[in-house]
Amino acid sequence: MRRHRHNPNILQPRLGMDMARVGAASREQVRRLWHGSAARLLNWLLPERCRSCDAPGVPLCPACLGDWPRLPDERCAYCALPTAANGDCPVCALEAPPYDYCFTPFVYAAPLDAAISAWKFGDRLDWTRPLARAWMTAMGSQPPARPDCLIPVPLHAARLRERGFNQSELLARHWGRAYGIPVRGLVRRVRNTPHQVGMSRAARRENLRSAFRLRGIPPAHVAIVDDVLTTGSTLREIAHVLRSAGVERIDAWILARAI
Ligand SMILES: [Zn+2]
Ligand SMILES: [Zn+2]
Repeated sequence: MRRHRHNPNILQPRLGMDMARVGAASREQVRRLWHGSAARLLNWLLPERCRSCDAPGVPLCPACLGDWPRLPDERCAYCALPTAANGDCPVCALEAPPYDYCFTPFVYAAPLDAAISAWKFGDRLDWTRPLARAWMTAMGSQPPARPDCLIPVPLHAARLRERGFNQSELLARHWGRAYGIPVRGLVRRVRNTPHQVGMSRAARRENLRSAFRLRGIPPAHVAIVDDVLTTGSTLREIAHVLRSAGVERIDAWILARAI
């Protein structure tokens, strides 16, 4: 008989030996022994495990992905906040941001927020792939309105040193590799701005003024990539820099929207 790697019977001789050793083993002991062997085999065959529930086989199982909160279809085209009808929200209607469209599938809420926090602040870089893949799947596994390049939201050099990676760049590289879109660090953060949570709109603007500089000539259509959209101030400032350089179409690709 051809020996097949996936045949669980290959474990039987081992189980038989173990059973002989334990002699009059109870059914419960045998069951535990078998389950231990089956789990070890499964682990060997499928070493990948769900980052959320530890189920074997995939980096994020369909059940856990199904728990991630999705944004409703009725939302503002600019800032992705849910709206009663499918139109712009009152804030964006009053003053349209300097970008054209925001594509984002998820709400930044439990349990996705915990996954993103663990990834960024908890030394869990193994979350990069499941986050990127889940994002792509949620977007219909197609780049929305294919841009000429992806521009990750930059971190200041000091924060990059502290964290060791730029989360937006990691996500952008997954998209870039999957669909052959160049990832270009065309925007640099020249000022290390304090966190903006709790600041007024005017204070956020002042905080970010001249925080970003262009380095290089951007193409006609770009997409700015970020993990979480909160106030939208950073996105506006980067888009403003790009628009001033003559970029015709600016999209925002965001993994999750805080609402
Ligand atoms: Zn799971
Ligand atoms: Zn809006």
